[in-house]
Amino acid sequence: MSGELEKILEKIDGQLALAFSHQAEDAAALDLLLQCGQGIRGRLEVFTLDTRKLFPETVAYHKTIEEFFKITIKIYRPAEAEVEKLEKALGDEWGMRDSLENRRLCCDVRKVVPLGEALHGKNAWITGMRAAQAVTRAGLALLEWDEKNQLIKLNPLCRWTDEELDAYIKARGIPLHPLYGESFKSIGCSPCTRAVLEGEDIRAGRWWWEDPSQKECGLHRRPRPGAGQGAHL
Ligand code: SF4
Repeated sequence: MSGELEKILEKIDGQLALAFSHQAEDAAALDLLLQCGQGIRGRLEVFTLDTRKLFPETVAYHKTIEEFFKITIKIYRPAEAEVEKLEKALGDEWGMRDSLENRRLCCDVRKVVPLGEALHGKNAWITGMRAAQAVTRAGLALLEWDEKNQLIKLNPLCRWTDEELDAYIKARGIPLHPLYGESFKSIGCSPCTRAVLEGEDIRAGRWWWEDPSQKECGLHRRPRPGAGQGAHL
């Protein structure tokens, strides 16, 4: 798989970025990328978004991954002044749950704006997204054009099943976020993530008060299927 990925990335000029959001998928994508040649690794930035609402376990896992892969992950954060304004607008620390508008405002300030900074000057970004994760990702393609950020988006795990991901992580001995051991299956900000119950889908613990069709934070909000989001090299 890393050979296939390397061949695709060789056709893309310029700077590359991997968005590392502490999920098992991201760890697998990072592992695949680090098996590519220096020509790829030398122009790759691995970054994460620190929304200032992360679980303490996420902060600890961040260090675990840096040590395991012997890399430094660049951190992008929202500006403090913007967070202060946001907190006033939301009213209290749970205000993002009051409405979809509030939640999207919070995600925009804490995630979408810092993502734009992270992707500035890059030619492609690589994600750990999989179609099997959620209804909002069902039409995910290997290569997409990110209209908002004006760059190629590459999803090398897009067709991986849960079982394939588990098998890869085990075979490569990659450490996982500790909250996976406490029935979390997708891990984001602490106010908006809970453990899932038996039989619930992977992303049921993210923004659980919302309709499943709305559950994207803006980083990966995608056009409707057939709306021309695919990209070709
Ligand atoms: S996931 Fe929740 S806390 Fe994090 S940025 Fe979005 S609304 Fe805010």
